[in-house]
Amino acid sequence: MADPLKNDIKYLPGVGPRRAELLNKELGIYTFGDLLYYFPFRHVDRSTIHRIADVNGEMPFIQLRGRFVSITMVGEGARRRLQALFSDGSGTIEVVWFNRVKSIADSLKTGTEYLLFGKPTVFKNHYNIVHPELDVYNASQPQAMGLQGVYNLTEKLHSHSFTSRTIQKLVSTLLEQTFIANIPDTLPASLLAKRRLMPLSEALVAMHQPASVRALQQAQLRMKYEELFFLELNILRYIKRSGDKAPGFTFHRVGAYFNDFYFNVLQFPLTGAQKRVIKEMRRDMGSGHQMNRLLQGDVGSGKTVVAFMVMLLALDNDYQAAIMAPTEILATQHYETISAMATPLGVKVALLTGSTRKRERERIHAQLLGGELQILIGTHALIEDVVKFHNLGLAVIDEQHRFGVAQRARLWQKNVIPPHVLVMTATPIPRTLAMTVYGDLDVSIIDELPPGRKPVNTIMRYEKDRDAMYRFVGQQLRQGRQAYIVYPLIEENEKLDLLALEQGYEQVCATFPHYRVAYVHGRMKPAEKDHQMQLFASGQAQILVATTVIEVGVNVPNASVMVIENAERFGLSQLHQLRGRVGRGADQSYCVLMTKYELGRDTRHRLEVMTQTSDGFVVAEEDMKLRGPGDLEGTQQSGIAFNLRVANLAKDGQIVQMARDDAEEILKADPQLSTPSGKALDARIHQLYDKQADWSQIS
Ligand code: ADP
Ligand code: MG
Repeated sequence: MADPLKNDIKYLPGVGPRRAELLNKELGIYTFGDLLYYFPFRHVDRSTIHRIADVNGEMPFIQLRGRFVSITMVGEGARRRLQALFSDGSGTIEVVWFNRVKSIADSLKTGTEYLLFGKPTVFKNHYNIVHPELDVYNASQPQAMGLQGVYNLTEKLHSHSFTSRTIQKLVSTLLEQTFIANIPDTLPASLLAKRRLMPLSEALVAMHQPASVRALQQAQLRMKYEELFFLELNILRYIKRSGDKAPGFTFHRVGAYFNDFYFNVLQFPLTGAQKRVIKEMRRDMGSGHQMNRLLQGDVGSGKTVVAFMVMLLALDNDYQAAIMAPTEILATQHYETISAMATPLGVKVALLTGSTRKRERERIHAQLLGGELQILIGTHALIEDVVKFHNLGLAVIDEQHRFGVAQRARLWQKNVIPPHVLVMTATPIPRTLAMTVYGDLDVSIIDELPPGRKPVNTIMRYEKDRDAMYRFVGQQLRQGRQAYIVYPLIEENEKLDLLALEQGYEQVCATFPHYRVAYVHGRMKPAEKDHQMQLFASGQAQILVATTVIEVGVNVPNASVMVIENAERFGLSQLHQLRGRVGRGADQSYCVLMTKYELGRDTRHRLEVMTQTSDGFVVAEEDMKLRGPGDLEGTQQSGIAFNLRVANLAKDGQIVQMARDDAEEILKADPQLSTPSGKALDARIHQLYDKQADWSQIS
C-alpha cells in the first residue's frame, strides 16, 4: 500500500498547484509528511476572550470578540491603508491593515460578529491592532479555540496572502485524514513503554493542536527523544564500524623515558585528574586499536605535561611523536616547554613552522625520515607532504578547533597504520555536545586544577573607570607583576581596530613611562612578533599590549592582570581563553572587562557569566545556550548536519543522555541491527541520514 505521507502536497484539499509551488519553494514542503512535520515554533492560548476596556500595551497576543462599526480606506498609493473600528460593547479599538487592503476591505462586513486575534500596540496615545487574524464567530462552536500553533513563514509567503492561519487550516485538513491515526510508530514498543513516551501518531497531532500544555510537552519530549535516539544510534553504529576498521600500534611498554621523567625530572606531583587521563590513554594505546581521544581541560589544567608523558610512551615503544599547534607563537612555546622537559632525558626534539629556514627544514626532514628525531613540534607546516616520518606512532593536536577535519586526516596518512591521535582542547565542550559531535572520539576530562590556584577575580568596568583601572594596573606592576592589555581585532574592522590598538599602546606608554611596554599584533612580521613576546615572557617588558594572538596557550606565570578592552566584542569562550592567561601562579590574579555603557541583553549576560564563574564548563554551557551548538567553535568544521527540528543539544542534555543509553543498549543486544525490530531501526536510519553528512569524513 502506498504511504499516504508521501502524497504530493498539491492533492491536499485547499492547496492545489499554485500554493503547492509556494510551499515547495518557500518551506520545502513537498508531501503530506513534510507538512505534518512542519511544527509550529510556538503556541498561543486562544481559550480566553478579553474585553476591549481591559486592553493595554503590555498584553501579548490576545483574542477579542465583537463587530466592526466602521471600515474606512485612508491615504493614497503606497501609503494607502485600511482603518476600522472594532467594538465589543465594553469599548472600541482601532484595527489597521497596510497590505492587501482592497481584498480585505471587500471581505469585511459590518454587523458580523468576529473573533479577532492580534497584538495590541500603542500608537499616538491610543491602542491599535495591526493585521489581526479574523474568524467569523460561530456560536455553535466552543468559544475557546485552545492552544494554537504559530508557524514560521517567509516574506514571499506573506506577500501571497499566506498567514500562520493558512497553515493552521491546511494542517487541520491534514489531521482530519483517516490515515493519521494509523501512522506506524518509528520507535520500538519496548522503548515507548520504558520511557513512557507518547505514540507517534498522537504526538504528531499534539505538536500542532495540543489539548493542553501538558500534552504539548509530552509530544515535544517524544519528538525530541526520537530525533536524538536516531542521531545517537547512527553515531554509535559508525563508531562501531570504524572501530572494526582501524587497527593501531600496540604500545606494550612503559619504559625508560617515561619512568626517568616521572621519577627524576617532573617537578610537581601530578593531579589525580592528570593521572587518570594518562591511564585512560595507556589503556587505549595498549589495545591494538587506534586511539582517538579528545582531552578536555580548562586553561591551566596541565594538558601539556600529560601530552608529553603520553609522547614518551610512544618513544618507549620505538615510535616517533608529533604535536601540532594552531599558531607559530604557541608552537614555539610548546617547543620551549617540551625541550626543557626532554633535554634531561636525551630526547631529540625539533620545531618546524612556516618560518623555519630552508637548511634547517631539510635537516629536520632527513632526521625525521632517518628516525633520529623523536618528537616534532610544529604548525600546519607539519602536515605538508614533504614531511615524512620514520615511524609516527602518536599525533597530538592542540587546540583542535582551529584545525579542519581534513587536516587531521592528513596526519593519519603519515603512516601505513594510522598513528594514535590525541586531540587537546581548552574550549570545553559540554558533555552532551562532545558525545554527539565527537561521537567517534573518546573523551577524557581534566576536571581539576593544580593545587594552590586561586580563581581569577573578574570585574566589569566602564570608560569612566579608566583612570582607576590604570592605577590598579600600576599597583600590580609595583609588586613586580606583569599585565596584559588586549584589544579586539577583526578583519571587517581591521583599519579601525589597528588604530585603536595603536592609540591604546601610546596611551599605555604615556601612562606608565617607567615601565617597558611590549606590543604584538597578528599583522606583524613573525620575527618582530617573537621578539616582542620574548620581551614580555622574559620579564624585560612588564606590560603587553596585544590583540588576541596571545589568546591561545601563552604561559607567563608572573602576569597577574588581564585587561580586555571592548570586552563586549568578544565571545564567551574567547574571553575565557584570554582570562586563562593569568592566574597561572599562586598569587591572586585579576581580569578587567572594559566595556561601553550601552550593552545589549545577551552581551550583558555574557559579561556577567564571566564575572560569576571561572569554571570553563559552565562558561561553555552558557555559550552554547546563547549561541546555539551550531555556532560553537569546533562544531562548524565538524561537518555534521545535526538535522534537529525540535531537540536542542544545549538544552536537552538529559534527553541526549537517555537516547544515548537506549541506543547503546539496543546495539549491545543487536550489534548488526539484524533482528526484525533492528531492521526497522536500520531502515529508519537510512531514511533519515542517507542524504546527510558522510560520517567517514570525520576522524
Ligand atoms: P594547559 O592545560 O592550559 O595547556 P599547561 O599545560 O600550560 O596548561 O599548564 C599550566 C601550568 O601549570 C604550567 O606552568 C605547568 O607546568 C603547570 N602544571 C601542570 N601540571 C601541574 C601540577 N600537577 N602541579 C603543579 N603545576 C602544574
Ligand atoms: Mg596549553
